[in-house]
Amino acid sequence: MTTTKPANRAQAAGVEVDAVSRHFDGVPALGQASLNIHPGEVIAILGPSGCGKSTLLRLIAGLDTPSAGAIRIGGRCVSRPGAVVPPEQRPVNMVFQDFALWPHMTVERIVRFGMRHRGVPKAVWASRTAELLGMLGLDGMAQRYPRQLSGGQQQRVAIARALATDPQVLLFDEPLSNLDAQLRIQMRIELAELLQRLETTAIYVTHDIHEAVALGHRLVVMRGGQVEQVGSAKEVFQSPSNAWIAGLVGYNNQLQAEIVGRDGEGRLSVRSGGSHMTVRSHARGEQLHGTGATLRIRPEAIRPLRADEPARADEQLVTATVEQCCFEGYHWRVVCRLGDEPLTFFSRHPLDAAGPVQLAIDTEGTCAYSDEPTAANSAPEGAADRQLRTA
Ligand code: ATP
Repeated sequence: MTTTKPANRAQAAGVEVDAVSRHFDGVPALGQASLNIHPGEVIAILGPSGCGKSTLLRLIAGLDTPSAGAIRIGGRCVSRPGAVVPPEQRPVNMVFQDFALWPHMTVERIVRFGMRHRGVPKAVWASRTAELLGMLGLDGMAQRYPRQLSGGQQQRVAIARALATDPQVLLFDEPLSNLDAQLRIQMRIELAELLQRLETTAIYVTHDIHEAVALGHRLVVMRGGQVEQVGSAKEVFQSPSNAWIAGLVGYNNQLQAEIVGRDGEGRLSVRSGGSHMTVRSHARGEQLHGTGATLRIRPEAIRPLRADEPARADEQLVTATVEQCCFEGYHWRVVCRLGDEPLTFFSRHPLDAAGPVQLAIDTEGTCAYSDEPTAANSAPEGAADRQLRTA
C-alpha cells in the first residue's frame, strides 16, 4: 500500500459528542458519553464486548438516533433527539468489521458506488478510483469480484470505498478483526501509515489494545456504556484511572493493602501480605480515603534478586514464597505468595519452588486505588472482559 496523500481533499473536521445517551427498551447502552475529537486526530475506542463502542460509532455515522445529548461534526449539529441529519448527508464514512462488500460488484463498481450516491461529480470517478486503488495496493484488481480477493485485499477495497466520497471523518468498526493474526499486524502498520498521511479525523473501534496504541493519537477506554478514561497511550499506561483499566493495560497483579501512612506528595506507605512498601497513587484526581487500598503491579515491574543483590532506590524490597515456576520458552513464569497475596512475574532463570525469594518491585510499575467494591474497581474477569486483547 503506498500512502501518498490524495490531492485537493476536504479538510478534516472535529467531532463533539456532548452528553450522548442511547437506551434500548429502557436499557442504557450508552450513558452521557462526552468526547471532543480534534480535526485530524485519530481516536481509538477500546473496551469489552457490549460496552457501547459500536453504538457510539453508529450515532456519529447517523445510523442511529441518540436518546439524549447532541453530536456536532465540523461545528454543525448532526444529531440530537428529534433532529437527525441522515447518514448520506454527513461528511462521514465507515469501514465495517465484515468488509460489507457487495459480492456481485467488481472492485471498481464498489469503489464508485459511494461516489455516485453521494453526488461526487462523474468526471472524477475514474481518476479517483484509479488513485485510491493505487494508493491501497490494489492496482490491476479493478475488475475482480470480492470472492477473488484475499481478506486483506477485501478490507483495502472497503477502505478505498470509504475514502472515495472524501469524508471529513472516517469511522472504523473493528476493521481488522476478521483477519488472521499475521495479516492483522501487517494491516495495522499499513493503516497507521495511511491515517498519518491522510490527516483525516478517524475514530477507530477495537478490542485490541495493541491496535489501539498503534493507531490512536488518544485512547478512549469504555466500559458499561461509560467513557472511563481519555488520554494518550502514555497517560493511560502510566496513570490508569481505575483498577480495571490498570488490569487492561498490563498491571495484572492485584493485591489488597492497608494504608499505614501518607507523605502528602501522592506517596503512600502500605502493608500488603505482611510486607511494607511505598507506592504512588497513580489514580488521577482520586483521593485514597480510609485505610484500604487495591494495589496493581505490572509483572515486568517485579524482578527476583540473587543472594546479596541490592534493590535500587526506586524499588521496594519484599520477601515472597515461590509456588510455581514454569518454563515458557524464553523465560520462566513464576507464581509466588506475598503473605496471602498472589504475585506473578517472569524470571530469566528458574527459581526453587517452595523456596523464599527476594523481590524488587519497581515503584513506577505499581498503582494504588481505593478498594471500595465498585464495578470500576474490580478486576477484569467477566466473559466480556476476557474478549479484550489486553497488554
Ligand atoms: P462489541 O465489541 O461486541 O461489538 P460494543 O461495545 O460495540 O460490543 P454495542 O454494540 O454498542 O457494544 O452494544 C452496547 C449494548 O447495547 C449491548 O448490551 C447491546 O446488546 C445493546 N444493543 C445494541 N444495539 C441494540 C439494539 N438494536 N437493540 C437492543 N439492544 C442493543
